Amino acid sequence: MLNIIIFGAPGSGKGTQSDKIIENYRLFHISTGDVLRDNIRRGTDLGKTAKGYIDQGQLVPDELIIDILAQVLDENKDKATEGVIFDGFPRTIPQAEALERLLADRGTHIDAVVGLEVPEDELIQRIVLRGQESGRADDNAETARKRLEVYHNQTSPLKAYYEEQGKYRAIQGVGEIDDIFETIKSTLDSL
Ligand code: AMP
Repeated sequence: MLNIIIFGAPGSGKGTQSDKIIENYRLFHISTGDVLRDNIRRGTDLGKTAKGYIDQGQLVPDELIIDILAQVLDENKDKATEGVIFDGFPRTIPQAEALERLLADRGTHIDAVVGLEVPEDELIQRIVLRGQESGRADDNAETARKRLEVYHNQTSPLKAYYEEQGKYRAIQGVGEIDDIFETIKSTLDSL
C-alpha cells in the first residue's frame, strides 16, 4: 500500500503527473478540485456553495472539504487497496491534521509528499494557457494570481510541515513531462 500526496502550486503539473503515477502504481486518485467541479456540473448544493469560492480563487472552508474527503475515502475503499494519491488535498495545516487522523482511523498513513516545484512566472503562463485550452472558469490571469496568493499564504506552509515529518520530496517541476515523471518514479521506488 502506497499513500502519497502530490503537492504544488496551481499549475505545477499535479494533475498531469498524477495521471502517470496512477497508471504506474495503480493508486486510487482523489482530486478534491475534480470532486467539486463534478458537483458544480451536477448542480448539487455542495456545488452551489463551492462555486462561489472557486470562482474567487478562494479555498472552500476546511470543515466542508474534510467531510467530503472522508466520504470519498469511505465510498471507494474497495478501489483503494493499492493506495491513494491525494491531489489538491490537503491545502491547509488543519486539513493535513485531519487527513492524518482520517488515515490513522483507517489503519494507514501518508508515505510521502511529492512536491512539484515550479517558478512563479511559469505557473501563471501555464494556468492561463490551460484556461484557453480547457475553458476552466478559474483559469484566467486574475484568478490565477489570487490562487497563487492563497497558495503562498495557506498551502505552502505544508512543505515545512511534511519536511519535519521527513516525508517531503522536492521534485523540479520544469522540463519534459516524462523526465519529471522519471524523477518521481525513482523517488517513489526508493521509499
Ligand atoms: P484544483 O483543481 O485542485 O486546483 O482546485 C480548484 C479549486 O477548488 C481551488 O482553487 C479551491 O477553490 C477548491 N479546492 C480544491 N481542493 C480544495 C481543498 N483541499 N481545500 C479548499 N478548497 C479546495
